[in-house]
Amino acid sequence: MAVDAQEISVVVIGAGQAGLSASYFLRHYGVSHVVLDGAPEAGGAWQHRWPSLRLGKVHGIHDLPDFPLGKPDSERPASEVVSEYFAAFESAHSLPVIRPVRVTAVRENGDGRLLVVTDRGPWVARAVVNATGTWERPFWPHYPGQASFLGRQLHTAGYNGPEEMAGKRVVVVGGGASATQALAEISLVAATTTWVTRRPPVWREGPFKEQDGRAAVALVDERVRAGLPPISVVGVTGLGITPDVADARARGVMERLPMFSRVVPDGVEWADGRHVEADVILWATGFRAALDHLAPLRLRAPGGGILMDGTRVVVDPRVHLVGYGPSASTVGATRAGRAAAREVRDLLRKQAVSAA
Ligand code: FAD
Repeated sequence: MAVDAQEISVVVIGAGQAGLSASYFLRHYGVSHVVLDGAPEAGGAWQHRWPSLRLGKVHGIHDLPDFPLGKPDSERPASEVVSEYFAAFESAHSLPVIRPVRVTAVRENGDGRLLVVTDRGPWVARAVVNATGTWERPFWPHYPGQASFLGRQLHTAGYNGPEEMAGKRVVVVGGGASATQALAEISLVAATTTWVTRRPPVWREGPFKEQDGRAAVALVDERVRAGLPPISVVGVTGLGITPDVADARARGVMERLPMFSRVVPDGVEWADGRHVEADVILWATGFRAALDHLAPLRLRAPGGGILMDGTRVVVDPRVHLVGYGPSASTVGATRAGRAAAREVRDLLRKQAVSAA
């Protein structure tokens, strides 16, 4: 039996930093909405991050609007601190978050509105603010022989901390902060570690400067305005040297090898015949935007990305992407939530005027 769709002005998909910020500002502007979140608890992707990712090891968590995070104990797992923080924010502002609700597709409703299909029934909305992050789309590159490997292969998304690597020979693949942080802690317990990256790492000596962040965001913004797939904001700011990473560098752990050419049953091999034996391959190879549910709207440009103007999808102004591309950081997500809420409010006003 078909279930009647629930009607609402706006559906926000995802209750991470971006979705919560959008919800806060939609409420502020008096726009009726729901936030549908597929996760079991508050915390967005942070709730899934490995326990050894202590607050003191992350780049920094930007405040949600008008709700200072304060100075929590930097030794606590970031997953716990951020989940508690988000839960407190949701409850302080009585945000209309419903979970767990998984959005499986967004399509045309045939009357100018959007049909949001979920595992708990459909919703019909005038606009959608998509805030689904990247955590659910880990990126695994393909290398010959991968399926033949007799050891364990995992992605950062399935990493639970260094304990499970004790005594093992571990190959870490990837040139980002997740790779260097994992390598630093794994090297303290593993039998051996080998670090491979496609390009030589670019270390950021000294503190992170605000203008570097702005330049990185501008670069990613330029890409999405041209309809190209985004690259990680963090990826263009250079690799930060936390005390753990500095210690690992001093121990000689951060000597990187170029990417291997194939995986073999007992390890990895390079074209020149070099062979490294391994029990574990950790693919710290990043994430892509989790947007499969938007496929029916055919938003993609020929460049493979989605042509954006700020948070607005150029080919469909009813759809905003927040926490995407240039706003894929906690500071970017908070700002994008406000920008999207404002534009959606204006769009709904225009629709109301033209309907009158
Ligand atoms: P998320 O936090 O991923 O939230 C998305 C939400 O959407 C989740 O709750 C998910 O369950 C839900 N969802 C997804 N798909 C669906 C669906 N189909 N239906 C319903 N719900 C769905 N940024 C910083 O600024 N500082 C840092 O120190 C930092 N460290 C990082 C460390 C790691 C390991 C990683 C991977 C990222 C880090 N980032 C950091 C980036 C930052 O975490 C994100 O860019 C930021 O939190 C934005 O979150 P978001 O709201 O876009 O997405």
